[in-house]
Amino acid sequence: MPSARALRAALAALEAALGSPAWIVGGYVRDLLLGRPEASDVDLVLESAPAAEAGEWLRRHWGRREPVVAFERFGTAQVSFLVGPGERFTVELVRARREAYLRHSRKPEVEAASLEEDASRRDFTVNTLLLGSRGQVVDPTGKGLEDLRLGVLRTPLEPAATFSEDPLRMLRAARFAAQLGFRLDPSVEEGLRESAARIRIVSVERVRDELLKLLLAPGAAAGLHLLLDTGLLAQVAPEVAQMAGVEQGGYHLGDVFLHSALAVERSPGARVVRLAALLHDVGKPGTARVSPSGPTFHRHQQVGAEIARQLLRRLRLPNSEVERVARLVELHMHPIQYRSEWADSAVRRLWHRAGDLLPELLQLARADTLASGYPGTGQLDELERRLEVVARENPGGLKPALGGAQLKAWKGWPDGPWIGRAQRLLLEAAVQGELRPGDDDAEEAARAHLQRRLAEWRPRSGERGMPSA
Ligand code: ATP
Ligand code: MG
Repeated sequence: MPSARALRAALAALEAALGSPAWIVGGYVRDLLLGRPEASDVDLVLESAPAAEAGEWLRRHWGRREPVVAFERFGTAQVSFLVGPGERFTVELVRARREAYLRHSRKPEVEAASLEEDASRRDFTVNTLLLGSRGQVVDPTGKGLEDLRLGVLRTPLEPAATFSEDPLRMLRAARFAAQLGFRLDPSVEEGLRESAARIRIVSVERVRDELLKLLLAPGAAAGLHLLLDTGLLAQVAPEVAQMAGVEQGGYHLGDVFLHSALAVERSPGARVVRLAALLHDVGKPGTARVSPSGPTFHRHQQVGAEIARQLLRRLRLPNSEVERVARLVELHMHPIQYRSEWADSAVRRLWHRAGDLLPELLQLARADTLASGYPGTGQLDELERRLEVVARENPGGLKPALGGAQLKAWKGWPDGPWIGRAQRLLLEAAVQGELRPGDDDAEEAARAHLQRRLAEWRPRSGERGMPSA
């Protein structure tokens, strides 16, 4: 990934070769001025050269073979290559252009727009700043630098105009607030409220990508509250919005929404964990009942897992991820309920049920605890230590000591439900610690165990392949 200096040098060479001033624009400049970590995507705006030509020039300048991708219709181009294992550097190029609101001018396509006009089609003033090849910063709206200093998101045009042009910008407002810790100018917040319903015309993929960026941001809780307060959340994820106002008492600090937003912010950065934190209590609104001792949410984990599955499928997340999040939602109460009095068998059961999701499940439990008024995570520390012991004692995992083929060979009975019943008994015995699948005499012990409980698992008359009574 070229340094800012190397980028400016490339820019200077490009300007000389093509005779067109060129500027770095947008997020890269914003983050540089804020002292945030360097972005791996850079946007360039060219005053007169066509984007494709400039892209091609840069490709040769950097000695890369990867073809330049040009989008003729939009007058944009992209140069992109790997700079390290899994690390990609991308330059997006665009010729300064005008947008739809100038469509009625006489020759919009051929008339090169000024940098000021180009800035006005961007989303926020802090995203319009330009960095030149000599290190000079230009502020085409005249507001960008001040907004950056004050930490304010303001649209270059009237918010309604900016948002109706591309309603995704509304989600970007909340996302940047969450990422940068900026606040919205009151006009922007009002614009969001007014235009929230327009988000429906944006493709689900673009919505999903913005939501995920917001969830992963350090200020995710504030971002989620903005989405809720402006009505955007009710449009893009009504299931999540419905958690607002659901009171829960006990150790909880606020309503279910506030608690969930905090849990997101207090969980580590992995996507599945953050999604699970957002959705772990999504089953509560539908299961809330009043009882004399306060509200109850019977089976909210199971109900919530299904709601999470529907929502994430609708947002077109990869299926494997959807299933992992749904499973975390379903399991989320298990570690929370841990108490020191638990028998080893209960710890083994948790370990077995969590399977390869154990690290994420524990992270979720910590975030859930930290987002409530429950005092400390000492119980979870203790649980984790006991789980480590279980993992050491069962390197191959907990499973039935005899496979289906072994059971059939032993008894000589045909396939049938009895095999599943026998294996469930064997698994339960392993969880209870009565059978240890890793031991030398594990199979013999398993046969003896089954033999003692024959009535519970042997074939019943009428079962497939067995003579009926
Ligand atoms: P990040 O890369 O961290 O997501 P960014 O500000 O660089 O943030 P990009 O999506 O990379 O965002 O876009 C680069 C620049 O292009 C933005 O800074 C902004 O000027 C402009 N831009 C991007 N998307 C839009 C949009 N939907 N509407 C208006 N301008 C946009
Ligand atoms: Mg960017």
